[in-house]
Amino acid sequence: MVETRTISLPIQLPKGFNECDRCSARLHDSLLQMEGVRSVDVNFQTSTIKLVYDPHLTPLEDVEKRAQLIGFDIKEKFEHKTFTLVGLDCPDCALKLEKGVGRLPGVVWVATNFASSRMSVEFEPGAVDEGAIFKRVREMGYDVIEEEHAGRAAHHETHGHDDEHTHPYSQKQTFLTVVSGAILVLALILSWLGLRYPANALYLLAAVLAGSYAARGALFSLRSLSLDMNFLMTVAAIGAIAIGDWFEAATVMFLFSLGNALEGRTMEKARASVSSLVNLFPTQARVRRDGVEVEIPASEVRVGDLFVVRPGEKIPTDGTVVSGMSTVNQASITGESIPVEKHDGDMVYVGSINQRGSIDVEATATAEDNTLAKIIHLVEEAQAEKAPSQRFTETFGRYYTPSVVLLAIVVAVLPPLFFHTAFSHSVYIALTLLVVSCPCALVISTPVSIVSAIGNAARNGILIKGGAKLEVTGGIRVIAFDKTGTLTTGESMVTDILPATGFDEDQILCLAASVESRSEHPLAAAILRAARDRGVHIKEVSGFESLTGMGAAAKFNGDTCVVGNSRLMDQLEIDIGDLSESLNRLQEEGKTAVLVASGRRLAGIIAMRDTLRESAREVFQALRHIGIQRTVMITGDNEMTARAVARELGIDEYYAELLPKDKVDIVRLLIERFGGGVAVIGDGVNDAPALAAATVGIAMGAIGSDTALETADIALMSDDLSKLPYAIKLSRRTLQTVRENIVFSLGVIVLLISTALFGWLKLSFGVFGHEGSALIVIANGMRLLRFKG
Ligand code: ADP
Ligand code: MG
Repeated sequence: MVETRTISLPIQLPKGFNECDRCSARLHDSLLQMEGVRSVDVNFQTSTIKLVYDPHLTPLEDVEKRAQLIGFDIKEKFEHKTFTLVGLDCPDCALKLEKGVGRLPGVVWVATNFASSRMSVEFEPGAVDEGAIFKRVREMGYDVIEEEHAGRAAHHETHGHDDEHTHPYSQKQTFLTVVSGAILVLALILSWLGLRYPANALYLLAAVLAGSYAARGALFSLRSLSLDMNFLMTVAAIGAIAIGDWFEAATVMFLFSLGNALEGRTMEKARASVSSLVNLFPTQARVRRDGVEVEIPASEVRVGDLFVVRPGEKIPTDGTVVSGMSTVNQASITGESIPVEKHDGDMVYVGSINQRGSIDVEATATAEDNTLAKIIHLVEEAQAEKAPSQRFTETFGRYYTPSVVLLAIVVAVLPPLFFHTAFSHSVYIALTLLVVSCPCALVISTPVSIVSAIGNAARNGILIKGGAKLEVTGGIRVIAFDKTGTLTTGESMVTDILPATGFDEDQILCLAASVESRSEHPLAAAILRAARDRGVHIKEVSGFESLTGMGAAAKFNGDTCVVGNSRLMDQLEIDIGDLSESLNRLQEEGKTAVLVASGRRLAGIIAMRDTLRESAREVFQALRHIGIQRTVMITGDNEMTARAVARELGIDEYYAELLPKDKVDIVRLLIERFGGGVAVIGDGVNDAPALAAATVGIAMGAIGSDTALETADIALMSDDLSKLPYAIKLSRRTLQTVRENIVFSLGVIVLLISTALFGWLKLSFGVFGHEGSALIVIANGMRLLRFKG
């Protein structure tokens, strides 16, 4: 089902907007490329954009971020908040809460997820506030904890795993269930001994103890006029007592309560896949202040603080190494177990373990905004999001429940009227029908699988942004790879420097390195390294400009210097002259050659050999093995280099000499040709448009890049390509698990309903089947937590 919302957002135009005639088109196109956005209407007279979008797929926050990337500030009228719910014990209560909170005036959108026990709300701050939302939640019989990452990390320090603190509900319920079970057994013994009245009294006691939570829930349910499982079970138990079946009443309540308690406990484990990330938060930092080392809580480290990490210690927050060198295990964040070397100037990340030497690090982030905090936030958002198949089952539930209630009334009333059967018998059948027909297992079949899979992925350094992304990833048939930095390490070596007449090698390197000192391109790093190795002095430049897909330019000694490919030189009408033969020769050797020019004069050529990633070959084999139909390389590099790489790796198709917008066109063509299922994998920074155009955009090496983390559908934290087949296999397995769960839970419902209709099913057995199927579905979904590829 597609849900859309229309909304007008005020926007702030970027500075110098009048000079930028393409800005509005860029904003329009870029927003429209977002998955859930159906239409965009930019109006500059009123400074607003009108947006029709699906809040499940695209939270307003994302729209805001995307607009900011293009230079527009959206003065968001709405606040987006996520809370953790307490006491959410059945899948249909999640939906009920959703409706209840959604009816508050000022709340524009709300989604609850039973599997992650979280609620996301978007609301108008003037019209409603958190207090009112919490109040409504509590009125409906649940509780809510507000999130704060730093706070939560601190909480972990002091309380550790304090189950009682976060889930008092399930603990008490478990206790009552156990007591009720014992009393039930006692009552059974008494009734065998023929002591009917004492036995019945004990049955009643057992029913009341186990049913206290259900009854409380039933009251809330009645008050908000939305029937739920609590209500049905309570009515069933009361009905059983009314027809004198005390044993049945006790068993129904006991089984229901037991089922809920077990479901709650098991789901805790799935939810804990995120808290296991929270546990990675280091507790202490050794900060150097005024020349003395002091130990402070990691949550108190400020940006700019200098901290010391000894061998074996965890890195307390993100930072840059200022002195010392060491190897660091970043597995907790990137999922790659091979330690990484760190020298002066390298970034280190929170939660990694320092192995060899002692390093001094300058903090670049606090506990609230470091990499781990960001990952946890993204994972939680992802788990709160609803997958399309989940929305299907929820919609199904919405229409289905009233129909069953209707059927139950018919079953209860008609037979006694027309066939003079016993009224108590037909009511019993109707109650059984109501109990077994609740699609709890069905409702939970998808979310439990997706939460588990996303948790599994996160532990392996793969961030999947929600169930919808996971589902499409399972359907990937074609993968397009960016070359530089993705298939190659990006750590190229400068191999040749060919000066034009009037220049020497060091001059060329000085020009190129000075310009590239501002660039983030992988080739820039190679040029800078060569300059450093040769002791060439890098000069200050001004007005740096990155000409994406072609090169870079900056002002140097009053002249504009450019570094880039021959397309760039063509555009600037810079003559390559007699160096063009050498250029061809270098490219035939599979080298990437960039041209350097100062003013309008060509200074020379710098050729580099980019090394292929070691794992690349195996990854292509693995991809073929798991049945990926086609692999494609899209690169801005020249034809000859591209051909050499494609042949070396056994890539099916390649497209070379592409500008970023050409890459987008190729991706669109691929989608058309293969009918969807096209993934693009790139660095997420200069490949962002192609990633956005793909069915699934995968960013690699996202650990240090916010843009990559936020804009990609899937972010691989490390540079490890082998995570790609893993992500696909995990997604496929998730789809399969979801299908199994849906088929199984529908099957059980059909079986139970039909036997109930014929009067063959005992109420208590119906409850057993109902709760049992939910547990099986949960257990099956949670196997994804342990999936290993
Ligand atoms: P790819 O698609 O393989 O990742 P890019 O689109 O990033 O490649 O770049 C395409 C080509 O543009 C490069 O091969 C290079 O010739 C040139 N280029 C891009 N950026 C730079 C830069 N900063 N310095 C030099 N050359 C560049
Ligand atoms: Mg690239």
